This record gives sequence, structure tokens and C-alpha cells, in this order.
Amino acid sequence: RQARFPWLKTLDQFDFDFQPSLDRRQLRELAGMSFVERAHNVIILGPPGVGKTHLAIGLGVKAVEAGYSVLFLTLEELMVRLAKAFHENRLERSLQQLVYPKVLIIDEIGYLPLSNLEASLFFRLVVRRYERASLIITSNKSFLDWGEIFNDPVLATAILDRLLHYSTTLNIKGESYRLKEKRKAGLLG
Ligand code: ADP
Ligand code: MG
Repeated sequence: RQARFPWLKTLDQFDFDFQPSLDRRQLRELAGMSFVERAHNVIILGPPGVGKTHLAIGLGVKAVEAGYSVLFLTLEELMVRLAKAFHENRLERSLQQLVYPKVLIIDEIGYLPLSNLEASLFFRLVVRRYERASLIITSNKSFLDWGEIFNDPVLATAILDRLLHYSTTLNIKGESYRLKEKRKAGLLG
């Protein structure tokens, strides 16, 4: 079984000096993988380019090394998969497959608003995995804005309630690493 990371980066390749808002000790603790053992979640928040996907992949790589099954999906890929299953009357099987990985990474929540159907499918997935297996979620939006993403404040609250019950949130406040590299190359003046 493949984790399907879009690219490979490790936690060792992450420059913590560049991102002082991140607590290294908290990351070292997460890298110890007890959150996976306990089926707790990790939510990584912050603006574009601050390393959310890098950290999610880095934790995913650690989990693979520790022998856990891991699956990486963007929110868009997840939604295509669930909506297709729903329309083909095999949602149950699809949800079961998505509960199987000990770590499911869902990348990029917040860039695209969800339809009502998509939001309710997402909710069903979160309910299924709750207390069973870990989610690592990245988002460019703060929790306050999740009502908008899910097009329904009540549903967003129900989703957050379960996601956050057993979870660690990393709130990255720093500058974009992509822009830093451009600036270094003299592309931004
Ligand atoms: P985000 O998902 O928050 O938009 P990414 O994780 O895609 O950001 O990071 C953008 C690029 O910059 C990636 O190639 C990533 O490996 C790199 N990067 C970001 N932050 C750091 C960092 N602190 N140290 C090393 N590389 C970083
Ligand atoms: Mg990203």
C-alpha cells in the first residue's frame, strides 16, 4: 500500500529557525508517533508557503517508517472520491476504505468551498475515523472561517467538535518560504 505523497520531504529537512512560531518540542513529540497510537489528530494552520504540506508529509513519512499505513489526499481528491462513490451507491465501501489507514492526511482545506453534499460526506468521514484513526489536516483558514468553507456553520461546528476533541493544532504565523527563496534569488527586488 502506497501513501501517495505528492513529493517527499522529511522533518529533518524543515528549517525551524525560519519558522519561530513553531514549537520544535511539540513537533518532536508528534514525531514520536504516540498521537497515531492514540488515534489523535493533528491540524496544521497557516498562510500559503509556510510549510504546512511539508510538515504533514514529514509526519506521514515518520508514520510509514514506524510501520503504519498512511494515505495522502488533497481535499479535492478526497471529495472527488467520496462524491463518485456516493453517486455510484458505494459510499459505505468507500468510507470503510478511508477508515483503514492509521494516518489519513487531508491537505488544503479552505481553498475551495464545499457543496452541501461534499460537506456532509466530509462529516461522515470524520465521524467514522473519530477515536479510531488519526487525521492530519492542513488549512489556510482559521477555525472561525470553517463555517464558510463547509457552507454551514452548524455542520462546521460538529466537524470541529470531533476533530479537535483529541488533537494538536500547529498554528504557523510566519512568512512564506517560497517567497523567501524568490527574494534570495533577487526575483522580488
Ligand atoms: P504550504 O503547504 O504551507 O503552502 P509547503 O509545505 O508547500 O507550504 O512549503 C512550500 C515549499 O517550501 C516546499 O518546498 C517546502 O518544502 C518548503 N518549505 C517551507 N517551509 C520550510 C522550512 N521552514 N524549511 C525548509 N523548507 C521549507
Ligand atoms: Mg500546502
